[in-house]
Amino acid sequence: RIEGPVRVRFAPSPTGFLHIGGLRTALYNFLFARKHGGQFILRIEDTDQERYVPGAEEDIIESLRWAGLTYDEGPDVGGPCGPYRQSERKELYQQYAKQLVEAGHAYYAFDTPEELEEMRRRLQKSGNPSPKYDAITRMSMRNSLTLPAEEVERLLAEGVPYVIRLKVPRRETIRFYDLIRGWVSFESSEIDDQVLIKSDGMPTYHMANVVDDHLMGITHVIRGEEWLSSTPKHVLLYRYLGWEMPQMAHLPLILSPKGGKLSKRNAEELGIPVLVRQYRELGYEPEALVNYLAFLGWNPGTEQEVFTLEELIEAFSLDRVRPAAVQFSLDKLQWYNQQF
Ligand code: GLU
Repeated sequence: RIEGPVRVRFAPSPTGFLHIGGLRTALYNFLFARKHGGQFILRIEDTDQERYVPGAEEDIIESLRWAGLTYDEGPDVGGPCGPYRQSERKELYQQYAKQLVEAGHAYYAFDTPEELEEMRRRLQKSGNPSPKYDAITRMSMRNSLTLPAEEVERLLAEGVPYVIRLKVPRRETIRFYDLIRGWVSFESSEIDDQVLIKSDGMPTYHMANVVDDHLMGITHVIRGEEWLSSTPKHVLLYRYLGWEMPQMAHLPLILSPKGGKLSKRNAEELGIPVLVRQYRELGYEPEALVNYLAFLGWNPGTEQEVFTLEELIEAFSLDRVRPAAVQFSLDKLQWYNQQF
């Protein structure tokens, strides 16, 4: 049962043009918000400057508009703010990361790339197949947990490059409830001491995502399954920042008709367009793509196959989203395109 106001977000990284999997995530968030009379916001997660693709943000906005997935808040929809851009909120993330350091849940790490490489080599040599900067390794590295306080002060004052890392507990089973998968658990020993702030001062996805979901009052995080393994890190961040965690829902993977994830590469080999823009240019009806994507992981529990957006809003519920991966079918999508 959904109680209280719902507020969800679509949070794409502008590292490429909008993928149909991204449009499905946006669609489920949109349907969920509209169904419950809530809000749906757009947040551009553009903190990875190396992977920034010019034009991607415009493409995302244009594709959402084409599909009829209107978001709340933003000059183009009559609001003063939004879509939100993380690159404009850098100081905020730094402030919360420092708070974590002061509370002893995160630390400064001064290791150079060479030292990190050396650590990996040493661990691999001693038979560790997946070396990590974790509760054990951190004790032999150069960070604010191992160096004397004056030394840390000096390094910071001298402007020596550093990152801020999350102090992940050595042994703990981290559990969370997923609205689609039920209880999910991860062992903390499998998780590395995630970098929260990079040496250029930019936050990583994890830090910015958690801070923004909290500050933006997000009640439900609906995103693709590929983010499931990030969630235990987010659980720790919410706990250490003293914030209540939103409810989580991870959507099933979309598979290629030949098996494996429907990546750009394997889709191209099969002649399947994967970018929303390609369907736009091919002259597909937005309703066809929206209907088809709605059914990729969800079903209404009735025989009805063709819906208007209004009917989809009415029929949608997260309870009817199944966790099992779903196979993409271009034939079915073409069938939908003939219905409009
Ligand atoms: N920026 C992430 C992406 O590109 C967001 C994942 C999430 O919704 O938390 O999909």
